[in-house]
Amino acid sequence: MESKRDFLKKLGLITVGGIVGGTVTPSLASGSGSKLSAPKKSIGLQLYSLGRELTEDVPGGLKKVAQIGYSTAELAGYREGKFYNTGVTEFKKMAADAGLKVTGSHVNPPVRKYTTENKGEIADFWKKTVEEHAKLGVISLVQPGMPSVESNDEAKIVCEVFNKAGEIAKASGIKWGYHNHSGEFQKAVKDEDKGKRGVQGDVIYDLMLNGTDPNLVFFEMDVYWTVMGQNDPLEYFDKYPTRFPILHIKDRSILGQSGMMNFENIFNKAYKNGLEEFYVELEGIRQGITQFEGVKLCFDYLAKAPFVK
Ligand code: MG
Repeated sequence: MESKRDFLKKLGLITVGGIVGGTVTPSLASGSGSKLSAPKKSIGLQLYSLGRELTEDVPGGLKKVAQIGYSTAELAGYREGKFYNTGVTEFKKMAADAGLKVTGSHVNPPVRKYTTENKGEIADFWKKTVEEHAKLGVISLVQPGMPSVESNDEAKIVCEVFNKAGEIAKASGIKWGYHNHSGEFQKAVKDEDKGKRGVQGDVIYDLMLNGTDPNLVFFEMDVYWTVMGQNDPLEYFDKYPTRFPILHIKDRSILGQSGMMNFENIFNKAYKNGLEEFYVELEGIRQGITQFEGVKLCFDYLAKAPFVK
């Protein structure tokens, strides 16, 4: 008797995997000889997404992240020479044992207000931070917290500090970048225009993009926070095609569920511009599921999405 598989084969359907309700089922699509068994996608995770569920058991947590399917991780746990309270050699081994490639790290300098007086102190902080991260072997080092910027003059100092951090990192073969939230889409005004009516001011993010050296500073755009700042990531990708090699892929909660993020357009344009890496970030999780379950749902969304390479 003819099996269902043979029957489908005869019809030619098997070459496109099993079709159930219009979608290709992975179990059939990945069968032997199937041309659809695509190589595993490289999907990264910003570990901040896991909160205390990770810090309670870092070695176990890193393993779980790799088991979900994530290939790379961006850290959020560097403090005074330690990574998640662990020395660099031990932490490196921990990640390797888990099968996770640590490619990035988020670190904030100790001050929010940059002045001509404390510029040197901030540069010293980055020197030490870069040194430790070079031992770890990351590709990128990113500042996720916004410094104080109320005027164009302050933005100028911030850009000088960013350029210096980028220069220090570059000397050790690390890319230095800045990660946004929504505050960067507010406007700064020139000192002489403060308090004047009708002065428009400049978008802080634009001042940062225009005031930093593209060879020293990249921008890790958080696409969700850009939208929350009432801006379209695609417009920025068009205007500054080379400045966003790494992205934070984030939604209000689980990726793809809010309906407010057009990830297909975002990925298409980002790939066209030469996207090198992206990290999933999860915040605002609903009650009833764990952070690990949440990041698994985010992974599944991107693993299934045809627009993610
Ligand atoms: Mg982010």
